[in-house]
Amino acid sequence: MRLSRYFLPVLKETPSEAQIVSHRLMLRAGMIKQASAGIYSWLPLGFKVLRKLENIVHEEQIRAGHIPMLMPTLQSADLWRESGRFDDYGEEMLRIKDRQGRDMLYGPTNEELITDIFRAHVGSYKDLPLTLYHIQWKFRDEIRPRFGVMRGREFLMKDGYNFDVSKEAALHSYNRHLVSYLRTYERMGLQAIPMRADSGPIGGDDTHEFLVLAETGESEVYYDSEITDLRFGEREVDYDSVAECQAVLEEFTSRYARTDETHDEALFNQIPEERRRVARGIEVGQIFYFGTKYSEPLGATVQTRDGASVPVHMGSHGIGVSRLVGAIIEASHDERGIIWPEGVTPFHVGLVNLKQGDAEADAACEAIYGSVLALGLDPLYDDRDERAGGKFATMDLVGLPWRITVGPRGLKNGVVELTSRRTGESEELPPEQAVEKLA
Ligand code: ATP
Ligand code: MG
Ligand code: MG
Ligand code: MG
Repeated sequence: MRLSRYFLPVLKETPSEAQIVSHRLMLRAGMIKQASAGIYSWLPLGFKVLRKLENIVHEEQIRAGHIPMLMPTLQSADLWRESGRFDDYGEEMLRIKDRQGRDMLYGPTNEELITDIFRAHVGSYKDLPLTLYHIQWKFRDEIRPRFGVMRGREFLMKDGYNFDVSKEAALHSYNRHLVSYLRTYERMGLQAIPMRADSGPIGGDDTHEFLVLAETGESEVYYDSEITDLRFGEREVDYDSVAECQAVLEEFTSRYARTDETHDEALFNQIPEERRRVARGIEVGQIFYFGTKYSEPLGATVQTRDGASVPVHMGSHGIGVSRLVGAIIEASHDERGIIWPEGVTPFHVGLVNLKQGDAEADAACEAIYGSVLALGLDPLYDDRDERAGGKFATMDLVGLPWRITVGPRGLKNGVVELTSRRTGESEELPPEQAVEKLA
């Protein structure tokens, strides 16, 4: 992409309404624009990051054997009356009447809708296990929308639902989700710690939230510092193996890590004092096992091998896709701007032409631009007729992992400059070698 033809409305001033750094940087870098309280338009740069996160989520869900689909945002109230949640859900649910006077709602979550699909089409243990998921906009009329996309009213969530013949099988699905989530967050350059949590309006007994540690997080968390040494890394896990998924769950949940809702002071005090941590965290996902909480009232049953009819065992599993954009920035920035982890960056490299209009500099930039594209990477070329200082400030704000700087002086010696956004270190290299380093 050439900046002269892109739409990147960066702001010079720090917007006064933004209280936390990710919100400020998303506004300043031209990623989002508020449409109304808690509702945002995703401008091209923000949209690109959102799409990258969606892709990672899809890839990791499909790897785990989960099946993508798409359910609507608007739902009929009837199903929610069947489950009893139409009244229970409270003010967070946005209720709408259509022209026929029918009660509708903008889905805050999808347990009812998916259970209705299941009961219409599945009746036998032979069709199980089954996990369906989608990535779709949700609406929750949050009492205090704030922090930009971190607590929006309209937000993008991946929500997945497992259907199993028994509690035992459903707990394997739970573990499989835990493993897939660990992989997902690590690919985004994040450490998200599974913590024992409270199930809230979804209901159920077993639940973990995934939290990214950050001072601006809204949750208070208590944990054993040893947990922050754990990495999922490159390991291959067989998602069909009950033992392998169980082992990962045990490894990642055996140390004390809880949100304030489930915190137990006596248990916490059993950890050696120097390892006790009280901190704040951002909830970026949650997994639930809730058994037959929805299948019973909605009559979603399956025939077992012995011919008995039993309500199907379920769980639901959410990732806050749009919130993650903010969470990644909270975890990765400096005073000059965003620092994107490689896996989610909107462009791989920024190309800065120090003297736009200089025949040699322009030609060198064009050649580099072409060879970056040929590698299958995405360059952002600042080809505007602007001062170098302004171009550098924009690149730092936007936070691409690499910058290639091209100017007449370097070209005389046959070199360009390759700079790492994270370390600030620069190297002078012939153009071809600078491009090779990106691959
Ligand atoms: P919170 O405690 O922050 O209100 P939640 O527990 O109500 O979140 P879940 O029902 O667990 O949310 O939804 C799954 C994920 O969706 C959450 O882990 C979070 O990442 C994301 N999410 C929930 N509410 C919002 C929101 N208002 N804005 C952006 N993302 C959200
Ligand atoms: Mg909530
Ligand atoms: Mg929560
Ligand atoms: Mg939650």
